[in-house]
Amino acid sequence: MAWDFETDPEYQKVLDWADEFVRQEVEPLDLAFPHQQFVPLEGKRRDAVDPLKDEVRKRGLWATHLGPELGGQGYGQLKLALLNEILGRSQWAPIVFGCQAPDTGNAEIIAHYGTEEQKQKYLMPLLNGELFSCYSMTEPHAGADPTLFKTRAVRDGDDWVINGWKFFSSNARTASFLIVMAVTNPDVSAYQGMSMFLVPTDTPGVNIVRDIGLYGEPEGQGGHALIHYENVRVPAEALLGGEGQAFVIAQTRLGGGRIHHAMRTIGLAQRALDMMCERALSRQTQGSRLSDKQFVQGYIADSYAQLLQFRLMVLYTAWEIDKYNDYKKVRKDISAVKVAMPTVLHDIAWRAMQVHGALGVTNEMPFMGMVTGAAVMGLADGPTEVHKTTVAKQVLRDYQATEDTWPTEWTPRKREEARTKYADFLEHQVGNL
Ligand SMILES: Cc1cc2nc3c(=O)[nH]c(=O)nc-3n(C[C@H](O)[C@H](O)[C@H](O)COP(=O)(O)OP(=O)(O)OC[C@H]3O[C@@H](n4cnc5c(N)ncnc54)[C@H](O)[C@@H]3O)c2cc1C
Repeated sequence: MAWDFETDPEYQKVLDWADEFVRQEVEPLDLAFPHQQFVPLEGKRRDAVDPLKDEVRKRGLWATHLGPELGGQGYGQLKLALLNEILGRSQWAPIVFGCQAPDTGNAEIIAHYGTEEQKQKYLMPLLNGELFSCYSMTEPHAGADPTLFKTRAVRDGDDWVINGWKFFSSNARTASFLIVMAVTNPDVSAYQGMSMFLVPTDTPGVNIVRDIGLYGEPEGQGGHALIHYENVRVPAEALLGGEGQAFVIAQTRLGGGRIHHAMRTIGLAQRALDMMCERALSRQTQGSRLSDKQFVQGYIADSYAQLLQFRLMVLYTAWEIDKYNDYKKVRKDISAVKVAMPTVLHDIAWRAMQVHGALGVTNEMPFMGMVTGAAVMGLADGPTEVHKTTVAKQVLRDYQATEDTWPTEWTPRKREEARTKYADFLEHQVGNL
């Protein structure tokens, strides 16, 4: 009987330290240096952040997303989930702990598919937190369906030449390199005809046309680039993995990325619930506290139940990833987590916002940012609808159609079968009446 929902006491001590450290030392960075977590460190910002990173390293909590065989600390996904839900409270915390998206997923694929040279050049500095990376896959005309991508890479002697447009390439403006997905063979299926390239951002022809912002961010200062790749020439060694391997690599990357977002989302939703409860206990209206109103109690109960379900789902999926060490085997549950994530964050943040009244919708509270974040969760790494389709297809694999006109569970036939099975007993009962 191996079901166990307890954290071992030694690791709990580590988590308790992390919780205190994030609240006291890291969360203030969100307000002192807002939206600057992906800008390379320098000057006073470096002076403030480097000692915090050193402290995390000393505690053995740096870059825990990769196993030792891939160059990380090797905590496994379950332990990472428990840590990530603490880090999810703060924008800066993943940076301070060396496990921020999209760099975690990018590090993972270089660790899996990179050559020794690529690992030295990109993975090591990435794991050391000294540079940022960008995953450049989505195109302006197509996102959810990568088979429609048009960006081309053509072999020219010892080089590849890349041409095309990419959209929503997050952090491109501060990234040292881009991982670009491009068509290398248009004559075969997209699943065999696309490849990944490691492209330094300062390569001639990488034109960042616009930095698109999310709602509320100043125009032109967002973090999601529209990029025109114009005759971008890279050497043959820039190919990541084999030619035609882009889809396989993308699945490795996105599997990890999705579950890590979910882990952090638990922390963010818990923060919203904490704020909702504090406000409910503190605010008085029409003769009683908000916490005494049944509507508000409903908000709290629904939020608690939603978060508990989601947390168990994420922890279970993380446990499965550790057990099977194969994202493909856990695909159904990763997609199910991805489907649940935006609704959980949206609902809890929305209720918390409502309970705060007018203050809740202002830029003096973080709820609108959380609601926008929930909308983003429903798109980034694939739209909810596509993940629902994945879940449904995987679930249906365990079922078969019936040849019969009536469903297997059709009551009249089952009743008849049951009566036949217990005929002796039924007659005996009747006889005794
Ligand atoms: C904040 C943010 C960061 C991102 N960062 C990156 C990044 O770093 N790198 C990168 O490459 N991309 C990134 N993306 C892009 C993201 O991966 C795409 O937005 C996503 O894959 C959807 O593509 P699309 O926006 O082109 O929507 P479309 O493909 O046009 O889909 C639009 C809508 O159509 C519906 N839909 C689509 N397919 C189906 C279907 N099969 N069945 C039913 N309905 C469907 C859904 O409602 C979907 O939202 C980011 C997106 C956001 C919002």
